[in-house]
Amino acid sequence: MEYDLAVQKSLYSKVTGIEKKEDDFYKELYARSEKRIDALAKTNPFTEEELNEVLVEDGYDRRDFMKWVSATTAMLMLPGFFEPLVAKTVQVLNRVPVIWINLQDCAGNSEAFLRTDGPTVDELILDIITLEFHELLMAPSGEQAELQLENAMTAFKDEYLLFVEGSIPTAENGIYGTIGTSGETYVDHLTRLSADAKAIVAVGTCATFGGVPAAAPNPTGARGVMDIVKNKPIINIPACPANPANMLGVILLYVMTGELPELDGLLRPKFAFGYRIHDACERRVHFDAGEYVEEWGDAAAQAGHCLYKMGCKGPMTFNNCPTVKYNRGTSWPVAAGHGCIGCSEPGFFDKFERFEAPTPYNPKYNPASDMGVYAATAGLGLFTAFKQLTKDSVAQEAENGN
Ligand code: SF4
Ligand code: SF4
Repeated sequence: MEYDLAVQKSLYSKVTGIEKKEDDFYKELYARSEKRIDALAKTNPFTEEELNEVLVEDGYDRRDFMKWVSATTAMLMLPGFFEPLVAKTVQVLNRVPVIWINLQDCAGNSEAFLRTDGPTVDELILDIITLEFHELLMAPSGEQAELQLENAMTAFKDEYLLFVEGSIPTAENGIYGTIGTSGETYVDHLTRLSADAKAIVAVGTCATFGGVPAAAPNPTGARGVMDIVKNKPIINIPACPANPANMLGVILLYVMTGELPELDGLLRPKFAFGYRIHDACERRVHFDAGEYVEEWGDAAAQAGHCLYKMGCKGPMTFNNCPTVKYNRGTSWPVAAGHGCIGCSEPGFFDKFERFEAPTPYNPKYNPASDMGVYAATAGLGLFTAFKQLTKDSVAQEAENGN
């Protein structure tokens, strides 16, 4: 009975860790942020003319920019009256230096970041944000690159945001990952660069939770940043790759407010990870109606029905993919026809190893236990239908010897 209730709660409820704020909270935040932006604007901001020039160069106009501002304000879960402040913040993005390092990874997050959706795409990132060091993007290499890093760390001591991409190999004293002419291990490299950073942003599932390099048998002892760095504020932006809108959102919020975004228990910003995929999915109506794709390409697949039986991990995965999407907001995996594989969850890759088989209920996957907040809304009929589905899954698992 307890098992059934847990299934019901986690699958048919809306799960959220976001508490509603009073108006006074936002008014106070606005006043504080406005003061900060006005102060930053006095110190060599990107001027409106410069911004407009970049927009025009890329084929955009002011209206496109304001549309982006509205979408970004909403994504950050700020009230509409913050829009002018978000627009002003873009012009002072150059006031917070960013140092970006790549550790044990495929550089997919850098790739995603370069294609950030925004009014000026690459320019917004490369011309406005002060990217002081990024091994993949900068011209210097070897000792010159090392010198550039040292200079940036000295010039912006205690001010820079350290973006970390990739996991950290810890086995055998970290010898599976070294960098530079001194052969510094990634563990030491990260520890040294973290010491003078204002805060650390771990981007991608490898940097946050170990990701693919940490998959069993994890020969390199791959770990996430928060397993190594203990004495600095850390913001985790998991996913494979992390959504560039979320990376830019974290920088923008930090520049605007001077504070870290509100984080959940896994250090993920709540504006991006406060809800499950399942709760904002366009196929949810079919889940609730018991309409499932049973086989790739069947009539239900063509009609856009729910992908749960095809292995979708949306009910166990927190991320804003359904609303923010990818590729300039054109689509996302579930819209494209494949279930979510839970790439932003701790334990990915092993936890959801069977991507195309339904995951039977298991307390360790229960999103309610992560967030501690839920409200059951299911009808008994749907609940009964799901119970059957779960029994089928368990039987299938047993048959497969798992
Ligand atoms: S497709 Fe996945 S996320 Fe969407 S409703 Fe179905 S199970 Fe939930
Ligand atoms: S839909 Fe799921 S698997 Fe795809 S990017 Fe989002 S969290 Fe990752």
